[in-house]
Amino acid sequence: MTRVGVYPGTFDPPTLGHFDIIRRGAKLVDRLVIGIGINPGKSPMFGFEERLEMMGELVAGLAGEPGLGEIAVVPFKGLVVDFARAHGASVLLRGLRSGTDFDYEFQMTGMNATMAPEVETVFLMADLAHQAIASSLVKDVARLGGSYGAFVPAVVAERLRLKLESLKSA
Ligand code: ADP
Repeated sequence: MTRVGVYPGTFDPPTLGHFDIIRRGAKLVDRLVIGIGINPGKSPMFGFEERLEMMGELVAGLAGEPGLGEIAVVPFKGLVVDFARAHGASVLLRGLRSGTDFDYEFQMTGMNATMAPEVETVFLMADLAHQAIASSLVKDVARLGGSYGAFVPAVVAERLRLKLESLKSA
C-alpha cells in the first residue's frame, strides 16, 4: 500500500517553516503532494506559477536525502478534502505554530473529518528556530527594507528581492 499525504497551502512565498514541515512530512508518507493554492481572493504577492516554481526548486534540493518519500508539487483549488481524495491521500498534513493556528485548524479539522472521514489530519511543528516564521510577516519585513534571509530559503530570498524591485519600478 502506498501512503499518500497532501500538504496544501498558499506558500506566498514558501518559508523555512514550510520547508521544515515538508521535510518532516515526507518522512511519514510514501508520497507527499504539495498543493499550491490558486486562491485569487487572497491576492498573493506571487502568482501561483511563481509559487509552484519556487516550491519545485526547493523540493528538487531534497532529492537524494535519505528517508524521504517521493514529493510532488501541484496547483490546487477548491476544497482541500476534494484535493486529498483526487490524489488518493489518507493524510492531510498541516503545520501548527500558535494558538491562533490551533483555533482555525481545530474547526477546519472537524469539518474536514465530517466531509472526508477517510482522511486523517496530521499536525506537525517545525523546529523551534522556524516556528515563528509566517509568509505574511516575511513580506512585511521585505517591503519595509528589513533583512529576511533568516526566514526563507536562498532561492526564495532571491525571488523576493526581484519581486520587490519589479513592484517598485511598476
Ligand atoms: P494557508 O493559506 O493554508 O494557511 P500557508 O502557506 O500560510 O497556507 O501555510 C500552509 C501550512 O503551513 C499551514 O498549515 C500553516 O499553519 C503551516 N505553516 C506555515 N508556516 C509555518 C511555520 N513557521 N511552522 C509550522 N507550520 C507552518
